[in-house]
Amino acid sequence: MLFAEVIVDISIKSLDRPFQYFVPQEMEEQALVGAQVVIPFGKGNRRMKGFIIGLSDTPKYDINRTKGILKVEKQGVVAESHLLSLAYWMKENYGASMNDAIKAVMPVRREVKEKVERFIFSKMPKAELVQQRELFERKHNTARVRLLDGLLQKESALEDGLDYDYAVKALNVPQSVIRGLEERGVVQVTSKQLYRNPLENQSQSGSRPVLNGEQQAVVDAICREYDRGVRKDYLIHGVTGSGKTEIYMNLIEHVIEKGKQAIVLIPEIALTFQTVNRFYGRFGARVSIMHSRLSAGERYDQFLRAKRGEIQIMIGPRSALFTPFDKLGLIVMDEEHEGSYQSDTMPKYHAREVAVQRGKMLGASVVLGSATPSLEAYYRCETGEYSLFTLKHRAGNADLPRVQIVDLREELKAKNYSVFSRPLQQMMEERLAKREQIILFLNRRGYAGFVSCRMCGGVIQCDSCSVSLKPHEYGGRVALLKCHYCGMEKPMPSVCPFCGSKYIGTFGLGTQQVEEMVKKRFQTARVLRMDADTTSGKEGHNRILKAFSEQRADILVGTQMIVKGHDFPNVTLVGVLAADLSLNADNYRASERTFQLLAQAAGRAGRGEKAGDVVFQTYQPEHYSVANAACENYQGFYRQELAVRQMLHYPPISNILEVLSFSREKEKALCLSGKLKEVIGEEQGIVILGPCDAPIVKLRDWYRRVMYIKSGDYGLLCRVRNRLEAWLPMQEEYKDCMVTFDMNR
Ligand code: ADP
Ligand code: ZN
Ligand code: ZN
Repeated sequence: MLFAEVIVDISIKSLDRPFQYFVPQEMEEQALVGAQVVIPFGKGNRRMKGFIIGLSDTPKYDINRTKGILKVEKQGVVAESHLLSLAYWMKENYGASMNDAIKAVMPVRREVKEKVERFIFSKMPKAELVQQRELFERKHNTARVRLLDGLLQKESALEDGLDYDYAVKALNVPQSVIRGLEERGVVQVTSKQLYRNPLENQSQSGSRPVLNGEQQAVVDAICREYDRGVRKDYLIHGVTGSGKTEIYMNLIEHVIEKGKQAIVLIPEIALTFQTVNRFYGRFGARVSIMHSRLSAGERYDQFLRAKRGEIQIMIGPRSALFTPFDKLGLIVMDEEHEGSYQSDTMPKYHAREVAVQRGKMLGASVVLGSATPSLEAYYRCETGEYSLFTLKHRAGNADLPRVQIVDLREELKAKNYSVFSRPLQQMMEERLAKREQIILFLNRRGYAGFVSCRMCGGVIQCDSCSVSLKPHEYGGRVALLKCHYCGMEKPMPSVCPFCGSKYIGTFGLGTQQVEEMVKKRFQTARVLRMDADTTSGKEGHNRILKAFSEQRADILVGTQMIVKGHDFPNVTLVGVLAADLSLNADNYRASERTFQLLAQAAGRAGRGEKAGDVVFQTYQPEHYSVANAACENYQGFYRQELAVRQMLHYPPISNILEVLSFSREKEKALCLSGKLKEVIGEEQGIVILGPCDAPIVKLRDWYRRVMYIKSGDYGLLCRVRNRLEAWLPMQEEYKDCMVTFDMNR
């Protein structure tokens, strides 16, 4: 008798273990490891879904009391066993239920009915078919006559066949008639599977640049190691436009020549027609894409083509990491620093870490690339975990752009109250006169509100956490400032604590406002706006980017989504309207994010033949994020930021675990978060911040409290987390509460 270990599809920590069921004989063939099943569960034998994660022929319990599997899901995709191992690793590492982890590694779980196209062919030469037709006509077999007419009337139908659906619907031939003629040997029906292909309208082009010395050296080094059987994790740090994508494509070419497969991860937002086109241009039908804007059918078909080994390259956002390739040789992760690589649902994994783990399991190399690497990745190069390559020059002929920093405090002193500084206005006028294009960028990321002084640029921060304090309104005005790490509170000051001016308050500016101001100030300019409001729908992004790249607009106004990986040769000016806006997010990564956004924004200028200019408008021109971004001095930024992280025990030097407690009742959330702190008790080697209210105190009717735990010892933090995870399900009074964990976000 066969027994299956089943993970029940329910994310409750106390049930997070396999349950044993027997496999009825008639299901033995389909009951594979990774299969999806229906089982009776609990006292009431409720029908539940589950995944088989193991099979054996020894029962664990009394065989008479072991229940049987009810059904193996026919439409359920069977998980690869190596993906199940990866799920187990994710569960252990990120603290999630096995059920959630399995779902994460299986972005496609259900079959979507395949699309089949059928054709009817004549089995006899034309002359004989004509005779048949006459015979049928004499017998008044009108449907048969209609079908043969369909075949005879067009030369192409005899050769390529007649579309089955057309015959049934347009020619009104019943299916039984077609079957009858098939049995009599008059016609033959053939079918072929049609993949729903999201890349249908792309064209393959042959052009490829000759790699420059810097690029070639990287390709050679990695290929040499690859051929010697060495599998490693690499980071390519190359300034914007240094030709990293060309390097990826050459590496991919190398591994697929060896019969292997490659996954290319790209932030969802950068997954535009430009990127896809470049890969499709080089690899044609060997490449496919996977992303959330595809239909379920399209996604399933790409999954199937990958599983069957019919494609060699999959491009997509973080979930593409789980493409069921079994001959994986290479994982590329472009724009490695992007926040979207970290999942925000359980398990809250980081794609970089999972990529490294999957690479280890399958013997694949991992290549991370960025112009502005995350502190984590660069730090790991210093500790020797990753191997580092640096590209200092732009590929081709383009020069790095000239960056000018404009101090907005000076503008205010000169009584310029517009959002456009005088230097920026002048440069915009010049570009418009020359018919060159302009990008205006408003980095609203993390813009949760902060209090700053327009006179001196000072921002009110927490004394112990180095993040900006968030304003809280009471009775329509800001009354209180709060830190979201440690909970510290201060009253809102009436004058600037740094310079005494009264120009102190919250700062607010939206893309739509900017668009209107541009139209008012530059009346003849054609303006496009790109933000969350204008890019909804399947092709929203592409539509705007395409219009801009075809020069149907002079100025593009947008949020961070416009700085990602786009290449507009005619853009010669990029203006960042408030470079320090993102510095004031209430998160320890604010400086890093700002540096990244600014350096990437600057990288959009001057990518063609013409040189580019960049203007950073800011109240904090001396801030190391702003100053180093202006000269693309990554090293300078990295050193200073690492020192801050070291001093305040933040990643990558230390680790920070976020513990979020949820309850429908405010009181209960408060008690629970306090209780969790008690459960941790006196533990050496950790520091606890909070608990305090989460930045969003109430979300979808759940009250949220947050606590941060810092430690230099990653293993210790995992053990603390496991202890909390084990404790919660035993508490009757918190049965209706939830706790989630997030490591090093
Ligand atoms: P990155 O990914 O580092 O931003 P890309 O690979 O997008 O850089 O390259 C930037 C631009 O330079 C692209 O237009 C690309 O076609 C071009 N390019 C890349 N490598 C070369 C090369 N060796 N010679 C000429 N042009 C190149
Ligand atoms: Zn001030
Ligand atoms: Zn604080």
